[in-house]
Amino acid sequence: LVHDRNISERELIRRIRGLTDNGSHEAIMGIGDDCAVLRGHGNSVWLITTDTLVESVHFDLAWHPPRQLGRKAANVNISDIAAMGGRAIAALLAIAVPDSEIDWLDEFLAGFVEALKEQGAELVGGDTVKSRDGTVFNVTIVGTMEGPDILYRRGAQPGDLIWISGPVGEAAAGLALLKAGAAGQAAVENKWQHLVKAHVDPEPQIVIGRHLARSGLVSAMIDVSDGLATDLAHICEASGVAAVIRATDLPVSEELAAAAGYLGCSPLEWMLRGGEDYQLLFTAPADREAAIRNLIGDKTGRTIYSVGRIEAGAGVLLHLPDGRRMDVTYQGYDHFSSGRNQSD
Ligand SMILES: [Mg+2]
Repeated sequence: LVHDRNISERELIRRIRGLTDNGSHEAIMGIGDDCAVLRGHGNSVWLITTDTLVESVHFDLAWHPPRQLGRKAANVNISDIAAMGGRAIAALLAIAVPDSEIDWLDEFLAGFVEALKEQGAELVGGDTVKSRDGTVFNVTIVGTMEGPDILYRRGAQPGDLIWISGPVGEAAAGLALLKAGAAGQAAVENKWQHLVKAHVDPEPQIVIGRHLARSGLVSAMIDVSDGLATDLAHICEASGVAAVIRATDLPVSEELAAAAGYLGCSPLEWMLRGGEDYQLLFTAPADREAAIRNLIGDKTGRTIYSVGRIEAGAGVLLHLPDGRRMDVTYQGYDHFSSGRNQSD
């Protein structure tokens, strides 16, 4: 299903792209990256991104308290600003709600504005309408940065290492736990607090993104919103290269392993196709490995992970411990269930 959805989304975007005149005087980057990039004053640029969140497609009100949902609506969009290496400055919010439950909306808005404030950004406009069925939000975020520092999806070169700014698969695990334990949500949240938070209240990696962009060490970057296999495929397509992920280099926390055991799921599947991690996925020449690790360690105290390598060719391959390579381009590990037992 995820596979089919991605194909049709990509096809739709291709059609829309065919109608536009990319690369006009004002637009440095149009459709095809995490943000559109418009010329600003001097060297600076404007970054613009928009996203729509639909109830029961992108979120479930049963396990998204309104305040956290407001935070998430802001943060998943701010993550696209982080993916270019910029900082967020302003937001527009359009809301369609069935019957305005004013208390619920107050809490949602409080969370939305709180998340913006954490980034030094403000709400500057929007729209509210009535919906017949279900709640829909549209968020537009405006960011800024210095033009020469922008990190695009294109730019990855054969030989580059592939990095992630933190563990992936945790949001997918959190969602699976919430689904499995919906009857006793409080118990689920206590035991698996970290994983549940990864799904319900994700953090955009603005600080790491800005350090990476300014460092000049990185060749391409994107945020992990649709899953590692899919988002890495976007980098490969934009850069004209292939990628090989080493399964054994993907970090598995004790909590993630425990949750996988508890639910009888594969942590590798969560890590590859589980979306909504909002970590940064980037590539850089291999001889900069120590410089990048030290930069992020010194500036943020965070551990980042090198998980594979860019090669000549096309597509995303998963290198398994037994030496086999599986094509996971725009897909997930679940499409290759015939190989799963052998590798477990
Ligand atoms: Mg993105």
